[in-house]
Amino acid sequence: MTDTIRHHLSDKLLMGYSAGTLPEAFSLAVASHVSMCDECRARLAAFDAVGGALMEGCGDADLSDTAFSDTLARIDAIDLPVPEPTVHATGTLPRPVQEYIGGDLDAVKWKSVGMGVKQAILPTSKEATARLLYIPAGAAVPDHGHRGTELTLVLQGAFADEVDRFGPGDIEIADEDLDHTPVAEIGADCICLAVTDAPLRFRGLIPRIAQPFLRI
Ligand SMILES: [Zn+2]
Repeated sequence: MTDTIRHHLSDKLLMGYSAGTLPEAFSLAVASHVSMCDECRARLAAFDAVGGALMEGCGDADLSDTAFSDTLARIDAIDLPVPEPTVHATGTLPRPVQEYIGGDLDAVKWKSVGMGVKQAILPTSKEATARLLYIPAGAAVPDHGHRGTELTLVLQGAFADEVDRFGPGDIEIADEDLDHTPVAEIGADCICLAVTDAPLRFRGLIPRIAQPFLRI
């Protein structure tokens, strides 16, 4: 799959993931792409190495005998859920997503959002929302803009919008400047992992009315 991926993670996202500062939903998207993409896995390893070197280069300070064990105890006490970028397992969904679903595609509890589009919201912390989107071949997600950042990782099929075409493993990073209408390609239903840190802004009236109920 790795050879066909053309849209990758930004340095900012990889750095944030490496430093453990991303909201859980964004960590899940990064871990999922990394599990499908050799290139980004190598870049992440480089950021991890740089982060480690920075920690080591912080210089000496007088520390009490228990400073190290105190620090470890404090790290243990922090319960930060960070999805691991395990290499792509068998199945349609990447391993990090399978861990949230408790299985592969057949275990997903879809909810219809109309026009044949379905979604399943994954249980992550509240700062950002992660959902699986199921878009029937040839169907469109309503035209929308963004208040924050939206990451869309293609897991099956492909979609195209005003920016480009996105196939399996590709990740689109959309921000406030982008208004787009993703359309699933003819041929295969499209399944994506979509992550947002603010509600989407829909252009049409009907989606705007439905939005509070659908949490999209
Ligand atoms: Zn990549």
